[in-house]
Amino acid sequence: VLLVVTMFAGCSKPAPTGEPAAAEPSGENQIKIGLSLPTQREERWVRDKEKMEEVAAQMGVELIVKVADANTQEQITQVESLLTQGIDVLILAPHDASASATLVDKAKQEGIPVIAYDRLITNTDKLDVYMSFDNVKVGELQGKYITEQVPEGKYIIMSGAPTDNNAKLFKEGAMKYIQPLIDSGKIQVITEQAVENWVPENALKIVEAALAANNNEVDAILAPNDGTAGAAIQALAAQGLAGKVPITGQDAEKAAAKRVMEGTQSMTIYKDTRALGKKAIEVAVALAKGEKLETNGALDNGKIQVPSVLIESTIVTKDTLKEVLIDSGYITEDDLK
Ligand code: BGC
Repeated sequence: VLLVVTMFAGCSKPAPTGEPAAAEPSGENQIKIGLSLPTQREERWVRDKEKMEEVAAQMGVELIVKVADANTQEQITQVESLLTQGIDVLILAPHDASASATLVDKAKQEGIPVIAYDRLITNTDKLDVYMSFDNVKVGELQGKYITEQVPEGKYIIMSGAPTDNNAKLFKEGAMKYIQPLIDSGKIQVITEQAVENWVPENALKIVEAALAANNNEVDAILAPNDGTAGAAIQALAAQGLAGKVPITGQDAEKAAAKRVMEGTQSMTIYKDTRALGKKAIEVAVALAKGEKLETNGALDNGKIQVPSVLIESTIVTKDTLKEVLIDSGYITEDDLK
């Protein structure tokens, strides 16, 4: 259950209530937002970017976008450059949660409010707001599903990039269901590893090695997202096991939706990145205008409880895919072909 809290954003102007209206028209008062994304490797990040560009254009605000290709140093350089371009707000989706803290501090020194987008920025007390999904809940949906499918047996447990705070939250949620069954001896963990940088190739190697070391005797795989699930399924397929070992995912990527329909991936999680992207631009504009923000949660980043805007996510299985993903327009029937 999420608490509804309100806060004021670095108030310069009086704070009108309600939804942020259209921003200033173009001209010298036009609001300028800097956006730093960690990657475009996963489909979801492409969608976040497109949605934010679309909404920024509709609201008449300028959006300067930089993409760091899963590279901490690259992101630091890009954000430092954004900070010199007269931006009013910074939306930062960090590649590295704690290395990004100095970027928040730099932005704040220049009076620029910062939104952590999708991934939390840790070790700073200066972050204005965190906008994401309820990521512990995402992990819970994965853990609940996989333990219902496979309440006992041999598990491969993978988690996402150690530099990404979400990876920690997903795993924490999933282990709420898995750990008690490990403790009672029902589940044996044959491999437990983080996938560096979320790179599918790394997940492929982890699963190949686990299959080889265990005579292909694997009953379930916890894969943190669709990219790593796809790679794990490739390793299973090479052993004639695709569709025989329940495996999780998340992101509702098109390729994953296809696998869910074919039965090689058991589930995915629908996180509506359109909603998150739209909300982020609206919140950025509100911050730029010094307006009041509505938040519905708070996350501990090691220094402070960061006021948070968290969006719900939904589990997707073969039975619910059409209803959840196609009826909402997130993917089309054609995407499944
Ligand atoms: C996101 C996931 C994504 C992963 C890899 C996480 O922080 O929440 O949606 O699959 O990063 O990019």
